[in-house]
Amino acid sequence: MRNEVQIMWDAEVDIAIAGAGGCGLVAALTVAEKGLQVAVFEKTDFVLGNTAASAGMIPAAGTRYQREIGIQETPEEMAEDILKKNHQESNPDLTLALSKVSGPLVEWMNDKLDMQFSLVTEFKYPGHRNLRMHAPPTRSGLELMKKLKQAVNDKDNIYLMLKSQVEKLILGDKGEVIGIDVQTTDGVQRIKAKKVILATNGFGGNTSMVKKFIPEISDALYFGYEANTGEGIEMALEIGADVSNMTAYQGHAAVNEATGLLVTWGTIMSGGFMVNQNGERFGNEAQGYSEFALEVVKQEVQNGYIIIDQDIYQNLLSIEDFKQLDEMDAFKSSDSIEDLAVKLGINVKSLKQTYTAFQKNEQGSSDQFGRTDFPKQLTGKLFGIKVSPALFHTQGGLNINEHAQVVNGQGNVIENLYAGGGTAVGVSGRHAYGYMSGNGLLAALGFGKIAGDHAVHMIQQKGME
Ligand SMILES: Cc1cc2nc3c(=O)[nH]c(=O)nc-3n(C[C@H](O)[C@H](O)[C@H](O)COP(=O)(O)OP(=O)(O)OC[C@H]3O[C@@H](n4cnc5c(N)ncnc54)[C@H](O)[C@@H]3O)c2cc1C
Repeated sequence: MRNEVQIMWDAEVDIAIAGAGGCGLVAALTVAEKGLQVAVFEKTDFVLGNTAASAGMIPAAGTRYQREIGIQETPEEMAEDILKKNHQESNPDLTLALSKVSGPLVEWMNDKLDMQFSLVTEFKYPGHRNLRMHAPPTRSGLELMKKLKQAVNDKDNIYLMLKSQVEKLILGDKGEVIGIDVQTTDGVQRIKAKKVILATNGFGGNTSMVKKFIPEISDALYFGYEANTGEGIEMALEIGADVSNMTAYQGHAAVNEATGLLVTWGTIMSGGFMVNQNGERFGNEAQGYSEFALEVVKQEVQNGYIIIDQDIYQNLLSIEDFKQLDEMDAFKSSDSIEDLAVKLGINVKSLKQTYTAFQKNEQGSSDQFGRTDFPKQLTGKLFGIKVSPALFHTQGGLNINEHAQVVNGQGNVIENLYAGGGTAVGVSGRHAYGYMSGNGLLAALGFGKIAGDHAVHMIQQKGME
């Protein structure tokens, strides 16, 4: 919206941020560290977002945590892995920019925001050539968000406004963004800002947008934050921004609906497998949980069952969600596969055959689905759990450059406007298979940091002119 007439502002800040999830708060803390005034407007009553629902695992290359256990990894190698997973469909410049910021980001968050990160050594995610996930002690996004919120509360120059829905971008005479309209409990507030950062995530919570752009997953459960309804994307489109890869998303094949908890894919990557209601395997689980969600959707009964053993079970108890599944007795267990099949309510004869065949696989050999990851034989007590496929979050969005500045249809920067996280086009290509574990938080926290740094730099540079 362009305003030629004199605008009456209700408040003025250096930088306004829409959305108080991981992207928004990292951007705010980055700006506040440099001494500028920043306001974060959050639509809901809470500071949670998808980030709090996540497993809090942030991929990063070249960190001191990796070096401590002898892993030397360059950002270029990480970018190569991301591009390989998405079949070279993501923008290579954005992919490299995120890979480059990932190491410094994780160390900054740890040192400045008291994250107490450690390298996740329990298992390696699909497509990661090295261990590169960094997470807080409980391996939970809730802990991550609590720490971010605490850090925000400790800053005098961050104003966090809840129940404040950003609705519109205000343009100046030259088409540059000069502020936002925010719907609050006191009505619409017009906020003047030198820079605006859109961090409202994607459109997973908007059923009609999901049906329009990603019909293949529209019938699955949505397991992300309900408030993420694509407003940041729509607002920017109204002023001439453009979008890419709107068909991209992170699915997940393993939500336990009975408890509402995620069953970590560490179950699979540590040596487990998944069967359908008939007790049959139906694909290469180790390719990735995102694309495997679609495989589950294709089954006659749209559920799967993950089978693991005692060692895997014990090893995963360090992960908060898994610990909760344990406390809720969500897994069935037995010393025999036949008895486990009965307890899970799946075809006994068929599961026994599947299990016997699966046990013959050896690490590096390829099975009928092309799976080559068989890190161990299942031994001792067996555990099984029913899982459902879900949409976690969307990964397509606003076109941005490597500074997280939003660009228009002609590729030109829309002055003063930034986007990150699910609001911007991510690095997951155009399909479910393109999502590599960690791409979500990487694009959220990474572009939050990049946007915050660049916005401050531009303001300071202008001040010196
Ligand atoms: C169960 C689950 C597990 C996951 N695990 C991982 C993981 O381990 N590693 C990983 O990398 N990724 C993971 N992800 C993905 C990751 O959570 C997201 O990619 C990431 O959190 C997105 O961050 P964000 O800041 O863009 O959005 P969010 O954290 O969702 O924040 C967006 C915020 O914007 C607010 N908002 C929306 N519209 C408006 C508006 N108009 N005005 C103001 N505020 C608005 C929302 O209320 C919300 O608070 C997981 C996702 C799920 C669902």
